[in-house]
Amino acid sequence: MYTNFQQHLQKELADIEAAGLYKHERIIESPQGAEIMVAGKKCLNFCANNYLGLAANKELVEAAKKGMDARGFGMASVRFICGCQDLHKQLEKKISEFFGTEDTILYAACFDANGGVFEPLLTAEDAIISDSLNHASIIDGVRLCKAVRYRYKNADMADLEEQLKAAQAQRFRIIVTDGVFSMDGNVCPLDKIYELAQKYDAMVMVDESHSAGVVGKTGRGVTERYNLRGKIEILTGTLGKAFGGAMGGFTTGRKEIIDMLRQRSRPYLFSNSMAPGLVAAGIRMFEMMSETNELQDKLHANTDYFLRRMKEEGFDCKPSESAICAVMIYDAAKSQKYAAKMQEEGIFVTGFYYPVVPKGEARIRVQISAAHEREHLDKCIEAFKKVRKEIEG
Ligand SMILES: *Cc1c(COP(=O)(O)O)cnc(C)c1O
Repeated sequence: MYTNFQQHLQKELADIEAAGLYKHERIIESPQGAEIMVAGKKCLNFCANNYLGLAANKELVEAAKKGMDARGFGMASVRFICGCQDLHKQLEKKISEFFGTEDTILYAACFDANGGVFEPLLTAEDAIISDSLNHASIIDGVRLCKAVRYRYKNADMADLEEQLKAAQAQRFRIIVTDGVFSMDGNVCPLDKIYELAQKYDAMVMVDESHSAGVVGKTGRGVTERYNLRGKIEILTGTLGKAFGGAMGGFTTGRKEIIDMLRQRSRPYLFSNSMAPGLVAAGIRMFEMMSETNELQDKLHANTDYFLRRMKEEGFDCKPSESAICAVMIYDAAKSQKYAAKMQEEGIFVTGFYYPVVPKGEARIRVQISAAHEREHLDKCIEAFKKVRKEIEG
């Protein structure tokens, strides 16, 4: 029964490989951090979402262990059937306090939060107006919902206004955007989006996955950056990036919206509750965020330093207000050469090219972390210089 299908898959896989698009996984033999072990060799990691350097934080590991000792390993149930633990409610409250929102609902991942947010709230009478570069999970979530879809060019406010005008025929409207776009590191222009939302009677949803913990003086995300705390109807986010990097997602915002998601959001109703160890560590993580701003300050200083030094060395970097720095190479093949040679130098960065980014805009994406020390950043910059010399002559 399998033979024909097997041949079909083998051919497709060979095509992917031939196109240079086959994704080879790197095997890490150490905890996640600035320095990692790969194939017995120490390397510097510049391609993790470990923005605050918490992925191997000792206090969080301790908190997770204590949480497991106190509340066990797993929940083995969905919440509407078996309920949840006191820990889950505490974590939801911590997230609401962090973002200045009314209530929060936890998911296994932000992919689930985005997958389960539209369909319970909107119908065919309504409109979703979505940025063209929004994350795959938002695109999938929108697909599951019957609302009329409008798309505007990335962060293009004139186009958003056109789409909002077109969407006046619908009953309710919601504008959906990533907080930080992962390929350029640009922050969504939430001030202007909010203004247009007021003018055209629309709600706003921001996915803070790459911005939470990073953007804003205290890392409260784009609502802090634009002074809009408490004003945005829906925020989604992940515990899998800056916030420790383990797992877990959330939707936070207006009380009635969260209430309705608890009644009808399918990934919440039909998927397991977060494991107690992760929830306990999440609580400790948000406590740490409110005790000190050290990590955010270090991340911001690191990012400023890296961008400034790279520009001084003549590299063409996109302006960034996040921890994502796009070093523009433009040529696709060359970007792959850069990434491979950087890896030989013991520096992990990722080269992206079409179709992940527009044609002719290939780049090396560097992700900065509070875990990086100056010497790590300097090594990365030196490696870029050496590799450029080798490639460009
Ligand atoms: C990473 C990411 C997600 C998915 O988060 P998980 O918790 O890992 O599922 C969703 N949205 C955006 C914008 C992301 O960057």
